[in-house]
Amino acid sequence: MNDVELINWAGEGYPPELQRILDRQPPMWAALAVRQGWWPLLARLDAQLAELDPNYTISQVKQKLGGLHYGATTSLTGDAREPFRRAVLAAQEEADNTCERCGRPGVLRINGGGYYLVLCDDDSAGFQIVTGDTWAVAQPAPRNKASANPRDELTAAEKWAAIMGGVSAAAFGEGGRRSAEAHLEWTSRYSDGILSTWLPLRDVSALVRVDEAELQRMSDVGELSTADVDGSPRFAPWQVNDDGRSILPGIGDVLRAMPNEYTALDVDVVMRFANEAFGGRAPRELLGTHEGLRKVIEWARDLGLS
Ligand SMILES: [Zn+2]
Repeated sequence: MNDVELINWAGEGYPPELQRILDRQPPMWAALAVRQGWWPLLARLDAQLAELDPNYTISQVKQKLGGLHYGATTSLTGDAREPFRRAVLAAQEEADNTCERCGRPGVLRINGGGYYLVLCDDDSAGFQIVTGDTWAVAQPAPRNKASANPRDELTAAEKWAAIMGGVSAAAFGEGGRRSAEAHLEWTSRYSDGILSTWLPLRDVSALVRVDEAELQRMSDVGELSTADVDGSPRFAPWQVNDDGRSILPGIGDVLRAMPNEYTALDVDVVMRFANEAFGGRAPRELLGTHEGLRKVIEWARDLGLS
């Protein structure tokens, strides 16, 4: 299917190029939460990644704060990971400049409701272009451009993860101090978005075949990470195995090692984002092995010391 056909697709379900992306996600929460203007770049990205690692998996594909989030996990290691990582970054960069509605060139815009989208001129009724000051920390940093301060190349999410990990916001260059307020606003938006993807224990129970009461008990004693949403616990999805059918081993040990003041959201962020301590991998990716689990626990203990 060519780009125009993908953008204008009005058939049942999804075209095969996009269905392949859904098939790589845990069936329980497989979704493709982006508009069709981005479908061609997603189809190309999946084809590229599949060539590097035919069995790569995806946790989530969605638009968040106007940018593309493509949560791909590969079993490639060492130098072989680099082209995989670069392909994802290049697609995210392309999405930053592609109208999510029609696929033509676009820029990041915001409407009166505070909703961000990358849009072309024709599709932008009700939206205005985001300027540096309105976006500040939340703006996805230019990913491929050289920078005087290497930290400026981090994405907004990575910056937040770094700040959660104890790095001062002022460390992110001249704008750091000025952007502290925008950062706070952004984190509250971000936490609402994140929590909406967390599952009630009842759903988790069906998924991993553990009684809901047992999950509740584990949550109560700190062996699972949950957050209270409207009075009932929601389960942080990073704790589930990639196959979506079991809870990762050692979660309780990881949680006990985390600094006391960390909320479930803080833990979620530090577990899921790329970390220099693990060669650019997310701590979550190491939990499958005993050795990896041990390293993550040691690292989590040190988080409280910075
Ligand atoms: Zn457009």
